[in-house]
Amino acid sequence: MRRAFFLNRSMYYKNETVVYHNKKWELAKDASASLYNQTMHYGNGVFEGIRAYKTEDGVKIFKAKEHFQRLLLSAKKMHIHVDYTVDELIILANQLLEKNNLQDAYLRPLFYLGDNMTLEPVKEVGFFMCAWEWGNYLGTKLLRTTVSPYTRPHPRSCHIDAKTVGHYTNSILASTEAKQRGFDEALLLDVNGYLAEAPGANLFFEKDGVLYTPALGHILPGITRQTILELAKELELHVVQKHFKVIDLKAADSAFFVGTAAEVVGLKSLDEYEFPMAWENSLGYDLLHMYKQRVSKREYKHFELV
Ligand code: PMP
Repeated sequence: MRRAFFLNRSMYYKNETVVYHNKKWELAKDASASLYNQTMHYGNGVFEGIRAYKTEDGVKIFKAKEHFQRLLLSAKKMHIHVDYTVDELIILANQLLEKNNLQDAYLRPLFYLGDNMTLEPVKEVGFFMCAWEWGNYLGTKLLRTTVSPYTRPHPRSCHIDAKTVGHYTNSILASTEAKQRGFDEALLLDVNGYLAEAPGANLFFEKDGVLYTPALGHILPGITRQTILELAKELELHVVQKHFKVIDLKAADSAFFVGTAAEVVGLKSLDEYEFPMAWENSLGYDLLHMYKQRVSKREYKHFELV
């Protein structure tokens, strides 16, 4: 059994956990990769964060197709050659859940590169996919956020719409810096000073019954963001997508982050500004409940906060 010394009590797997790795099913505790791989040294790898939910009709991966399409698009943009189709990846993802007897779960597929210390594309591509239990962690705690001194990368310095491993150093810096200053989470601006997104989630805000969200271009086109736009359409809400300044957000009634892991989470404040509307009265709150219903196909009236 090979195991990195700092992973011997991983929160992500147990002794019997199975992962998919380079065309084989293997035990997570035995899976390993070379320390010379280009993803580890230079950050060129692509991944996804996907949720599976226990639903009335069994376990369902939410928007599996959209996530695996984005994974393949990310790979293409990063010159990573992938020989899997979206359909094959969906089948593997479902098998992974079954083999590990998971229902409410988080799935993490990752394409990583072979040994290479140059800055050139690498032909050898590894594929790893794991999953772990992800209970209903929904709380009612609203986030105290702060404008980060770090900006999102410029879309001409990388493919901002690709979910690339290396991009997450920007997210880690922003999140860590916000927490060091006593906030719960950061809000990053783009290089032009417009509102962009959180380190791992997209932003929406509400003013006078209208919903606003930063336009695409400098942000990750979130799949949850898209779902929220679909739900807002069902509610016949007026939604505006354009570039906004901090001052716009500081005049908002309410605001929230959306993402696969976070789902929909309300903001309490942005720096000194407290969002005045009670979260329970906001559009974000309604959308949160619609989102929960959408992913689990439960009726709105049966939903309870846990
Ligand atoms: N922005 C960033 C930077 C992210 O990492 C994520 C999480 N993937 C999101 C937005 C939200 O994307 P999604 O809804 O597809 O999870």
